[in-house]
Amino acid sequence: MQLNDKKANILVIDDNPAKRLALVSVLEELNQNIVIAESGRDALRHLLNHDFAVILLDVQMPVMDGFETARMIRSRQQSESTPIIFVTAYARGETDMVEGYSLGAVDFIFTPIIPEILRAKVSVFVDLYNNIQVIKQHEEHLELLVAQRTADLTAEIAERKQAEIAIRKLSSAMEKVADSIFITDANGVIEYINAAFENITGFSRTEVIGNTPRVIKSGKHDVQFYQQVWNTLLKGEVYRNVFINRRKDGRLYHEAVTITPLSDENGKITHYISSGKDITESIHSQERLHHLAHHDVLTGLPNRILFVDRLKHALKRAEKRKRTVAILFLDMDRFKLVNDTLGHEAGDKLLRAMASRLLACVREGDTVARFGGDEFVGFLNDVATQQDVVLIVDKLLDALTPPFMIDGHELFISGSIGISLYPDNGTDTQTLMKNADIAMYRAKQRSGNTSEFYRADMNAHAMTRLHLETALRHALDREEFILHYQPQVDLENGNIIGMEALIRWQRNDTDLVSPADFIPLLEETGLIMEVGEWMLNVACQQHSIWQKNGHTALRMAVNISSRQFDSKNLIHSLHRVLQCVDMPADLLELEITESILMKNADTDIEALEALRAMGLRFAIDDFGTGYSSLTYLKRFPIDIIKIDKIFIRDITTDADDAAIVSAIISMAHSLGIKTIAEGVENKDQLELLRERGCDFAQGYYFSAPLSSEDMGILLANSSHVTDNYFKKSSDNMVSL
Ligand code: C2E
Ligand code: MG
Ligand code: MG
Repeated sequence: MQLNDKKANILVIDDNPAKRLALVSVLEELNQNIVIAESGRDALRHLLNHDFAVILLDVQMPVMDGFETARMIRSRQQSESTPIIFVTAYARGETDMVEGYSLGAVDFIFTPIIPEILRAKVSVFVDLYNNIQVIKQHEEHLELLVAQRTADLTAEIAERKQAEIAIRKLSSAMEKVADSIFITDANGVIEYINAAFENITGFSRTEVIGNTPRVIKSGKHDVQFYQQVWNTLLKGEVYRNVFINRRKDGRLYHEAVTITPLSDENGKITHYISSGKDITESIHSQERLHHLAHHDVLTGLPNRILFVDRLKHALKRAEKRKRTVAILFLDMDRFKLVNDTLGHEAGDKLLRAMASRLLACVREGDTVARFGGDEFVGFLNDVATQQDVVLIVDKLLDALTPPFMIDGHELFISGSIGISLYPDNGTDTQTLMKNADIAMYRAKQRSGNTSEFYRADMNAHAMTRLHLETALRHALDREEFILHYQPQVDLENGNIIGMEALIRWQRNDTDLVSPADFIPLLEETGLIMEVGEWMLNVACQQHSIWQKNGHTALRMAVNISSRQFDSKNLIHSLHRVLQCVDMPADLLELEITESILMKNADTDIEALEALRAMGLRFAIDDFGTGYSSLTYLKRFPIDIIKIDKIFIRDITTDADDAAIVSAIISMAHSLGIKTIAEGVENKDQLELLRERGCDFAQGYYFSAPLSSEDMGILLANSSHVTDNYFKKSSDNMVSL
């Protein structure tokens, strides 16, 4: 049966077809669904399938009467409260009503039916049913709503839990990171800080939360700095920079900071997260590196880089203000001597002491720097007249006058100062420094312990000199020095009795520079000490090689320069060398000039005696060109005199020269000193020298100075070569 579910169902139960028809026809006017049951059983079937607003139940029915049916209806849960109206004959009214109500009837209809009453009574229950349906619907809807809300809430709770876990994870991560993190609200009030923040700043959570980041402000940044921070953040952009902040204990630290604004869904900033990396250490090491790169480690003074930088600024300022800047180059006159005799440590102490004396003489804006070695450089700012400069320069020189006490030694040091002026002597740092350097060399050359202003005419000379000096300084490192050897011959028998080692400078492939052109500069710069030691080493090593080849009695003569001879270092280096190469000391002959001996006779005798005690031999080189008399020489332990080639050159033509040479030979012999003639170039000279009794000779006539290879060959064939000389010079000479 198809029922319209918008309408209420009415069940009519009656076994009598006429009565059913009557009932239905009346009820149809109500426009509801009417279901008809012919018996109690039939009714129960309908009740299984449908819900009814009201049941009209006939009391008198066969098999299962109305009361029985009512009982059955009530016993089922589905219909236990469905209103039942009994239909009964009026006559049975009272008895049936008592039973009917006890079975749960809600009303009675008596036959014959009065349509209005029937419709009225049924309508009441239909309306009631409809109302209940509406209520039920509402209830269902409500239930649905409640269920949905519950589901929503559960989801929300789950979500919140998830978020909580995420936050917990995040904050435990934040706790563990080394970067300091804090979170502020939109007003910059701190809401959260992590453990690293506490560690780095020294502030605890309670001290900081509720405060603003001002607690760690150092005051090292200006207003504009913070302005820029806020400008960036308020635009919603991330801000990154290095902040200098202050710890609780007051110490400053450098922090590489990233500040990120957080916004809500409407784009309104709600929080700021700041995360910072403490980079104090790396900044400090950067600063240390920067300091190291700009300062001289020994004295702490600025080095060349910083000096040039400061000078550049000073020149710029001076240009604007139309002022003068004086650039000073200072070189110690006797520093090398200290280093060589007392050692590098004493030298370092002296340099430090000098640095502080110099520093005390200049004003605050002036700079004193050290370029290495004993080279101090300075500039004076804002000088008005040359006289101002002279005053300060004199002050500097005076400051060095009192002796320095170093390791128990009283050291007297003086300096030479060269001065160049901006803008007169140059407008750029390089020119000014070069010119001050040139002036300094001039001062040093003049006498030392003095100052000299740069003049344009110093330049040409100084330039070549400077170039040469620079090249010389590199020559040792680049192994550009070599030794040549010139044989010395015994005039009695033609034997090669020894050789003189002569230095050469192989400046480039073709250029072999003669010692006359660079020995004086080596002396002047002090480089001679190093070069001298080098040549001693090489000569003695070479000697030992030839010795091993069988030339056991050859003498090796080396030239000792004045400065080398002055130094106590000479004895040490001779000791070292002789030990190293295992060379008999009496085969090593030191050639010194007369002028060396004349300079300071007292100390020289001591030095000579000390060297003599080692077994070394001495030759006086270039004899006759100095002022010494032979009687004067008596005081010195001399083995041999080298007659200067200037007398030999014209010996055969100039009677005076011949007479001088004769006199030298005989007087030397009378003192027990041998003689050797230098610069023998021809047979006539040789003959004359032999005639006058000269012992040995050296010169182009026998051989020019030779490379070690060529000398080796000559030695291997010595008998043959000397044979030739003496065949030429004398037939009765015993040849070897
Ligand atoms: P010296 O010690 O008087 O050396 C002799 C110079 O005369 C050498 O010049 C030599 O080449 C040159 N000579 C040799 N035979 C003749 C000749 O027959 N005629 C002429 N006209 N000259 C001849 P060199 O090698 O140019 O040396 C010049 C000076 O340089 C040397 O004079 C010596 O004082 C110095 N010298 C050379 N080597 C050294 C060295 O290793 N150390 C030092 N301190 N001085 C050195
Ligand atoms: Mg010589
Ligand atoms: Mg000589």
